Amino acid sequence: MWLTGAMVATRKPAGSGIAGASELFQLLRDGQPRTKAELVSITGLARSTVGLRLELLLELGLIEPSGEASSSGGRPPSRFALNPAAGVVIGADLGATHATIAVADLGGNVLETNRVAMPIADGPERVLTWFADSAMAILGSIGRSPSELLAVGMGLPGPIEHRTGRPVNPPIMLGWDNFDVPGWIMDSLGVPALVDNDVNIMAIGEKTTAFADTDNLLFVKVATGIGSGIISGGLLQRGAEGLAGDIGHVRIERGAGVECRCGNFGCLEAMASGPAIVAQLRADGVDVSSTRELIELVRGNDLRAISAVRQAGRDIGEVLAMCVSLVNPSVIVLGGSVSSVGEHLLAGVREIVYQRSTPVATQHLSIVQSRAAEDAAVVGACMLALGYTLSPEGIGAMSPRG
Ligand SMILES: [Zn+2]
Repeated sequence: MWLTGAMVATRKPAGSGIAGASELFQLLRDGQPRTKAELVSITGLARSTVGLRLELLLELGLIEPSGEASSSGGRPPSRFALNPAAGVVIGADLGATHATIAVADLGGNVLETNRVAMPIADGPERVLTWFADSAMAILGSIGRSPSELLAVGMGLPGPIEHRTGRPVNPPIMLGWDNFDVPGWIMDSLGVPALVDNDVNIMAIGEKTTAFADTDNLLFVKVATGIGSGIISGGLLQRGAEGLAGDIGHVRIERGAGVECRCGNFGCLEAMASGPAIVAQLRADGVDVSSTRELIELVRGNDLRAISAVRQAGRDIGEVLAMCVSLVNPSVIVLGGSVSSVGEHLLAGVREIVYQRSTPVATQHLSIVQSRAAEDAAVVGACMLALGYTLSPEGIGAMSPRG
């Protein structure tokens, strides 16, 4: 049995061997099989120590013997690798009106995904009760037991205090301010939960899905709001309060005098978000009332809609040119509902970023549309859960099967 209810605070005492075993496990996380001799040579540990740690990892079910290595004679040495079937994690992407839940194995393979309508403004108790019920149902639907669940990763559409996983003054999440989301999930499902804002998990999901070898990536979500997730040096950067990448409320030139929902004037979001583009077109007499209709107009080659989207791209490019100077990414990915209008938004962004950035910074910079598309967030949520589960801290909270 996994002691999945045990969180970080109830880790095994030092000397139980878990700490050493989880250290060794970090070498096997990539799924590549290795022999005991190879592990001895990589770690510099005594053969007996490596043997004991492997035994503990086998007992935990985290690794399994994997084929045979070639041998110069005698008994062929066994190789060991991550056992993806040893448990599962659940990733959830809760948006303003819809939720997506996915189950992934320990190898990061998504086993099942469900999308449903779910208004976030129903408040945390109702939404999380629905989430817990859905999590159990989706596990049951693929024949996995609740005891196999090791962690939950969750993205929410608002600012999250990273240290506690609590939403902080979220504008569209009525009743969620300072709600203890990880505590609620621990009480209800008995597993730790990692909570982050939706743009950060989209950045992680995009990197996992399409840019595994890219260490410096900026993911920009353009939807009802505008925000970005920064991956620098291969790691997601959250900043001091978890607000790094919050570019929607940077002031842009064209925004002078336009009020934003944050109370300031001239914010990027007030000019280039989906609702902002729709409002500008309506003011010009175009019959459009939602981002979905805007996308249809652009796809139908409506010149005024195309021009408005391209201008929004330029506005976003104005802020991104500054971001390029700050973090020097090699890829900028545009995602979110508005980005599905395609090339016209990208063209506006490219026009300004390439014009205003130094040639060296943009020499190898690509600006592309999200490839993970609507799966980016939920894949990222699974990765967040997996990152914790397979970390020394996560393994430290496990107990051998009895
Ligand atoms: Zn603002």
